[in-house]
Amino acid sequence: EEQAQQLEGQRDDLERANAEVQTKAREVEQASQYKSDFLANMSHELRTPLNSSLILAKLLADNPDDNLTEEQVKFAKTIQSSGNDLLNLINDILDLSKIEAGHEEIRPETLSVERLANNLRQVFQPLAMDKKLDFAIDIAADAPATIETDTQRLEQVLKNLLSNAIKFTEAGQVRLSIHTAGDSNVAFAVSDTGIGIAKEQQRSVFEAFHQADSTISRRYGGTGLGLSISRQLVRLLGGTIGLESEPGRGSTFTITIPQNYSSANVAPREPLAG
Ligand code: ADP
Repeated sequence: EEQAQQLEGQRDDLERANAEVQTKAREVEQASQYKSDFLANMSHELRTPLNSSLILAKLLADNPDDNLTEEQVKFAKTIQSSGNDLLNLINDILDLSKIEAGHEEIRPETLSVERLANNLRQVFQPLAMDKKLDFAIDIAADAPATIETDTQRLEQVLKNLLSNAIKFTEAGQVRLSIHTAGDSNVAFAVSDTGIGIAKEQQRSVFEAFHQADSTISRRYGGTGLGLSISRQLVRLLGGTIGLESEPGRGSTFTITIPQNYSSANVAPREPLAG
């Protein structure tokens, strides 16, 4: 009799504890959703006034009536470039919060590899030339002619990797090579002959707001968000991103994604910092 009562009491305690854990879990989930929604809304609200300030700053910097002093034009240009930095940061935060909230949708379509390469060449060839860097895109003979993936997301990642490669390279070359990997994957390897990344930094550069060397990064600018966004986007595309680098010699970032996107092979969401 007594034992039965004791057991009954223990069961009640367990049920109470269980209910409490579930309530807490719902609260945490809810708070995280609030945070993501807040960031997304906030970023939208910040962009609107910033955009109009940028348009006006550009108008001043262009000095169409030729009635501003050289110094005033210089100030207007500084407003423009600081405003652009801020806009980039806001866009990056918006991207990350969308991904974190699970609001990022993948829209696969048929993409011509040749066309992708041409688009990227058009954007990056001139940037590389400005720094007197050799720039090339190689499409291997075994590369697929088309892939089924989200063009915009893939381009966003490749653009991030290519701009980093050019940004952190002072001499030599930046190269994108595209080839088949395994049975059904395609690999995009972005390699440079730039400053490289120390072994102990190679994992953390994929974390939000992380910059390998704060003195170097201050010199080069940037938000430290690009690679963590890229890593999340590649995961959404069903792929992986890897890095090989040697300080002073250069880096190679390789993304590998399925030639045919399927929501089945997308890895589960992971915490942003990790
Ligand atoms: P950002 O470039 O805005 O700082 P990223 O997330 O794209 O942010 O990169 C994080 C850090 O990783 C950079 O600040 C830099 O220290 C390092 N990094 C990224 N790409 C390269 C590269 N190609 N060569 C050397 N360092 C790199």
